[in-house]
Amino acid sequence: MGYVSGLKCRECGREYPVDPIYVCEFCFGPLEVVYDYKRIKKVLTRKSIEKRPKSLWRYKELLPIDGEPRVGLKSGFTPLVKADNLAKELGVKELYVKDDTVAHPTLSFKDRVVAVALTKAKEFGFDTVACASTGNLAHSVSAHGAKAGFKRFVFIPATLEPSKIVASLVYEPNLVAVDGNYDEVNRLCSEIANKYKWAFVNINIRPFYAEGSKTHGFEIIEQLDWKAPDNVVVPCASGSLLTKVWKSFKEFKEIGILKELETKVFAAQATGCSPISTAIKQGVDVIRPVKPNTIAKSLAIGNPADGFYAAQVVKETGGYGEDVSDDEIIEGIKLLAKTEGIFAETAGGVTIATAKKLIEQGRIGRNETTVVCITGNGLKTQEALAGRTAEVHHIKPNMDAFEDVLKKIGR
Ligand SMILES: *Cc1c(COP(=O)(O)O)cnc(C)c1O
Ligand SMILES: [Zn+2]
Repeated sequence: MGYVSGLKCRECGREYPVDPIYVCEFCFGPLEVVYDYKRIKKVLTRKSIEKRPKSLWRYKELLPIDGEPRVGLKSGFTPLVKADNLAKELGVKELYVKDDTVAHPTLSFKDRVVAVALTKAKEFGFDTVACASTGNLAHSVSAHGAKAGFKRFVFIPATLEPSKIVASLVYEPNLVAVDGNYDEVNRLCSEIANKYKWAFVNINIRPFYAEGSKTHGFEIIEQLDWKAPDNVVVPCASGSLLTKVWKSFKEFKEIGILKELETKVFAAQATGCSPISTAIKQGVDVIRPVKPNTIAKSLAIGNPADGFYAAQVVKETGGYGEDVSDDEIIEGIKLLAKTEGIFAETAGGVTIATAKKLIEQGRIGRNETTVVCITGNGLKTQEALAGRTAEVHHIKPNMDAFEDVLKKIGR
């Protein structure tokens, strides 16, 4: 038996049994997984965690499954890199990169949420899984779903980067490219989810799926030697990851693993799709939907399902929200690559450039400890860098030609 006591509406508090449902029948609020922390506290300790295999399942009591993990047994436990070169460049004392560019198996943090969602889909007895995706979720549902033996339907906006499309197709899902943006894809998928009995990981399985994001946060705490950072900068699409990183920190406090928790949570977005950071900057509670126009396609959700809750977490913790232009995103990608040797996708560029801005604004203290969440791999969005990288030295195969190059670069 697991440690979940049920589902609960985040708005009116009404309780529901554990089922593939996601909205409150009474107030349409989103449903959230509730745990029995008193029981978890007795079994989940630093010691018990440290003895387990290095995967996201080492925190399984705080994940919404009843039995043993069944999907993504090698997912999670990505490196937390002490980013001294980048820290120096940005003028801060202590900076860490939580590096999900090397997530298993599809190189983005979505491998976490899908591992949990598909384990739950198996427990519910589904044979078909599906998703509405901005790209990375498509990869992860396609790959994890293949290994786990599910039939797969994956829906994406037709304008996605060509390399992101190939990286889904290779796993042979049923890939459906919809003429429309993510918000339109998502609306269609909600209709399909009502009609067909499939496990839509980010629709009817969403409460369980979203819990997988907590493992990104659990790992940050463990890898900081069981301490919480002063600041964490989280990229936002629907806003779910941000709320769950915060939930993970609070849960570790609740079960006694963390002694102190005073972390400020910061939201990072692209200016071309910044409904969450805009609401935070304007100090309003209402998230006004936008039409996305940015190279950060993995974050391009104009009507973010968890936007309100993400903004609340930022406010409650004393953080802030900022957004950056497409040019700043490219500069952010390049800065991380040349200082830390980590190639992030556009979402990573958003996080780095936003962190830089927040440091310059004095909202992130230069003597504090900051973690930046890097959520996807740059090999997936190479198109974004076309014409924006350093140049190749193209030569004839002889020594003179090579030494001309040395002269040119002044060596
Ligand atoms: C999905 C995604 C996010 C965040 O998504 P949320 O919907 O806010 O949880 C961040 N980075 C990348 C690369 C993603 O694919
Ligand atoms: Zn309700």
